[in-house]
Amino acid sequence: MAQETPEVAIIGGGICGLTTALAFEQRGWTPTVYEAASGYRPIGAGLLLQTNALLVFNRLGIAERIRTAGVPLSDSLIRSSSGRVLTRFDLDQVERSQFGYGFVAIHRAELQRILLEELDTEVHTGMTCEAVATADPPAARFTDGTQIQPDILIGADGINSAVRDAIAADIELQALESIVYRAVSTVDLPDDYRTQGVEVWGNGTYTGGAPIDTDRFYWFATAPGPTPSDSTTPAETIATLRDRYTDYPEPIPTVVDSLDPDDVFVTGLEDVPALETWSRGSVVIAGDAAHGMLPFAGQGAAQAIEDALALVHALDTHDDPAIAFDAFEAERKPRADRIRSESHRLGTFGTMQSRVGTRARNLVVKLLPDTVFRRSRRRRAAQTSLPEEI
Ligand SMILES: Cc1cc2nc3c(=O)[nH]c(=O)nc-3n(C[C@H](O)[C@H](O)[C@H](O)COP(=O)(O)OP(=O)(O)OC[C@H]3O[C@@H](n4cnc5c(N)ncnc54)[C@H](O)[C@@H]3O)c2cc1C
Repeated sequence: MAQETPEVAIIGGGICGLTTALAFEQRGWTPTVYEAASGYRPIGAGLLLQTNALLVFNRLGIAERIRTAGVPLSDSLIRSSSGRVLTRFDLDQVERSQFGYGFVAIHRAELQRILLEELDTEVHTGMTCEAVATADPPAARFTDGTQIQPDILIGADGINSAVRDAIAADIELQALESIVYRAVSTVDLPDDYRTQGVEVWGNGTYTGGAPIDTDRFYWFATAPGPTPSDSTTPAETIATLRDRYTDYPEPIPTVVDSLDPDDVFVTGLEDVPALETWSRGSVVIAGDAAHGMLPFAGQGAAQAIEDALALVHALDTHDDPAIAFDAFEAERKPRADRIRSESHRLGTFGTMQSRVGTRARNLVVKLLPDTVFRRSRRRRAAQTSLPEEI
């Protein structure tokens, strides 16, 4: 790369945007981030960072910080709603012994804080990109009237990306007929649950979570149907949830009992259909903007993090952005698309609404030999996009 690096604008200062900025900085580039939110607040839910995400953060020199700030899980269980263990991921056996990192559960805001602290990059908050007017050369405008014309424009603006419209207009997100509740509860759990992740596959609902520090637990649960109407009060929502999960295996009922009704938020479940391309001219998309996926494989953020390093590596090794974007897509698109499809299948499977169907599903999972799960976890970590160090 020539001494003077191109001017790069990153739209979206979420996990993908901030990780991309960090990777650029470490290679001597000076990107600028434009984030729609008016500021970074310590709210939101938790996140499970799987081994592949930590391998990228290790390359960026921050994996230890993240591991210390979150909870490294000892293992993760899939249970039936009656409490039967369908399968157990012993993270020492595959991930930690072979790749050095297991899974870390962390508050999303904590991860964002670490990324922001590591960065010198200017992050302009309160800047909502309205549209990308041209892709070559890139020109974007913001809702406050600001216009920018960087050499390279990166859309890391999430599943409802505005930048994506310049590459693939009128994309319709694919919705699952279910919603998801998420919350972080403050709860004192017995030691057994303090380092263990759990998923419970019930009939039409998929719930679980993980501890994110000594007294906080990140919880999620899907439920069939559309988002509840605005007239449903938080107290009514909580009452329904407590009722639904009272007979579930621990720690779910204890966690649900301890939820603060005002801290539970609910969203729909959608993913981005496979796109033909992730770039046009000198504009490229990454993270959820390119491959937003359902959460069932626990890989959305991890894939966004892989994108960040791969994209920066491609731009740093090829002077022509078009060639860099081709290299980035060749490295990342097949893997991200495959995991997105897998997560969709798991979502359909996990939220199945039929007693007979869920019994058969749980039996299949219970009967599958451990080696099948281990092989797939090993493959997931081994195929992490980790460019050569330069
Ligand atoms: C219920 C649920 C649970 C999940 N759990 C996990 C998990 O355990 N592990 C995991 O790896 N992944 C998980 N994910 C997925 C993960 O949250 C996403 O894949 C990840 O956040 C994607 O990062 P991103 O930076 O691409 O997008 P985002 O995190 O959405 O960030 C996009 C950023 O862009 C900003 N923005 C949006 N529009 C504009 C605009 N027009 N102009 C400027 N800025 C804009 C937003 O404010 C935001 O800050 C989960 C998702 C869901 C829904």
